[in-house]
Amino acid sequence: MKPNDIQVSEHFTLCEFDDKANGNLVVLHPLTIERLEKLHLALSESMGRPIAILITCGTRTPRTNNQLAKLLGWTDDGGLVSKTSKHLPRFGGIAADLQVLDIEFGQLMPIRTVAQLAASFFDTIIDHYPTHIHVDLRDSANPGAPSND
Ligand SMILES: [Zn+2]
Repeated sequence: MKPNDIQVSEHFTLCEFDDKANGNLVVLHPLTIERLEKLHLALSESMGRPIAILITCGTRTPRTNNQLAKLLGWTDDGGLVSKTSKHLPRFGGIAADLQVLDIEFGQLMPIRTVAQLAASFFDTIIDHYPTHIHVDLRDSANPGAPSND
């Protein structure tokens, strides 16, 4: 069996959220899945046809985050990778990067359109990346976690 090949909700399997670069570690907050399913429904209804949410990053181990920063730079230095990325396991599985596929037309939905709908279900949306949007639940999912950035 493929690691984490476990259905966790109607449209998602656990392996979509694991860190394939470093041991398939996965941390996934139940609220993240609940909100992603709500987003799936909202996107399908808004489009009036089937869509698929493609998770491009869920859990990111510190090691993978460091590797990514070597490529894209730390945000402190004007790059794209945060030292306190909400994808890190210590935040409890509250973040996802995603794209949305319009199944019928076989093309990705515009990032801005996805971001506008996602704003109803997530605390933070980052939509300035060229390839995906970032969503997380830094305020509502983890009342005990540090959240000052
Ligand atoms: Zn992200």
